[in-house]
Amino acid sequence: MKAHDGMYLDGAWRPAVGKDTIAVVNPVDEQVIAEVPAGTAEDVDAAVRAARAALPGWAATAPAGRAARIAALRDALAAREDEIAGTVTAELGAPPPFARAVHTGMPIVVAGSYAELAASHPFEERVGNSTVYAEPVGVVGAITPWNYPLHQIVAKVAPALAAGCTVVLKPAEDTPLTAQLFAEAVHAAGVPAGVFNLVTGLGPVAGQALAEHEGVDLVSFTGSTAVGSRIGAVAGAAVKRVALELGGKSANVILESADLARAVAVGVANVMGNSGQTCSAWTRMLVHTSRYDEAVALAAEAAAKYADRIGPLVSARQRDRVRGYIERGIAEGARLVAGGPGAPREHGYFVSPTVLADVTPEMTVAQEEIFGPVLSILRYEDEEDALRIANGTVYGLAGAVWAGDEAEAVAFARRMETGQVDINGGRFNPLAPFGGYKRSGVGRELGAHGLAEYLQTKSLQF
Ligand code: NAD
Repeated sequence: MKAHDGMYLDGAWRPAVGKDTIAVVNPVDEQVIAEVPAGTAEDVDAAVRAARAALPGWAATAPAGRAARIAALRDALAAREDEIAGTVTAELGAPPPFARAVHTGMPIVVAGSYAELAASHPFEERVGNSTVYAEPVGVVGAITPWNYPLHQIVAKVAPALAAGCTVVLKPAEDTPLTAQLFAEAVHAAGVPAGVFNLVTGLGPVAGQALAEHEGVDLVSFTGSTAVGSRIGAVAGAAVKRVALELGGKSANVILESADLARAVAVGVANVMGNSGQTCSAWTRMLVHTSRYDEAVALAAEAAAKYADRIGPLVSARQRDRVRGYIERGIAEGARLVAGGPGAPREHGYFVSPTVLADVTPEMTVAQEEIFGPVLSILRYEDEEDALRIANGTVYGLAGAVWAGDEAEAVAFARRMETGQVDINGGRFNPLAPFGGYKRSGVGRELGAHGLAEYLQTKSLQF
């Protein structure tokens, strides 16, 4: 595949300082498809300098001017939808229809939402005898994961640009080609030089240099809780803003009155989508004891249908990690009712869609994020028990509640310690704040709440 051998800095592709490269591998056939430069601390420094230099001009650009550039960015992404989807398929392994609808379609919608928000947001308000201005935080260091390569980038860069911030992006090493296409779209959109900069590289080298850089005012990170907590500590010590979108172990709570068949079907689809590599996936299904066996049978049947439909995991490391969790679940007493740890194909990083029944709350597979196509089904005795189980992990990113009566589902959802809950299969809303309670993170992405992360206030008294 086509790849740039430099970094996008200050409005142009420039040679990397170091000579090391990162091989990009297609997870379907394990072949190397491209090489990108492995950025060093010097590359990061050059990018941060470019972003700092561009900050005054971009911050002073009227919101309507920023909105116009973000709208142009949305159009540039939409114009290359097929190419982007093909790239996500090549480096992540996402099946083409999913790559098109979700990996490409969703970020284009999100970019559009920030073109509108940049134009309509009240960056100035009157509070008593004060005028309060919402001003950009400054230079943003954005560090993104591979699981939704374009969405994770757009969910940070679009609101940052809308706010008047400038950005240095360090994308995941597994999916840098999508990030390079994004940089090309930024360029085509006429965003001024230095407002957006891209440094590809390894997490502990380029990522760490970015998180620690004195010239960065806000670090926005999405990825593992282990790395996120380190980034939070570094940012805390330097008294800089930080936004963390971390892991999840979300509960899909099926109350007794629910339409069981629908709740199970949607729940299984939610876990299997993107081969389970979704931080907000409902990986724990909670079912009342009276309907437990029926739910397990339905889930096993539904999961089997995904065997030929889902893509591989992103890397051999993730595949091995997920298989290890399935084995651990079985060893701790879970009952395998679909899939399993064995290799379903000779080549590629595939894992079978797997369902574990008789999972109890203290088991590893009920507590830790697996990040693969693995559903754990737990049994509850009554609603209080369901609530205890639902809230009984360190995470709180998303969730679902199903009930015959919407008010009943809402009452339950209000007691859940989590950032987002879908009621009876509620649809994705690109304007709804997304982010975690507890160890799922700090801050929110998407919509006006996502924009607010990149703003700070100044009050003038009269
Ligand atoms: P990770 O946290 O290691 O990587 C995420 C990003 O952080 C990448 O860009 C990476 O290069 C960078 N990074 C890594 N180490 C860094 C460091 N020391 N300083 C600064 N940046 C650093 O995640 P991963 O290894 O790709 O995946 C591991 C697990 O993380 C997954 O199994 C999953 O549980 C979780 N994860 C969560 C999400 C999410 O959306 N919440 C996304 C991807 C992965």
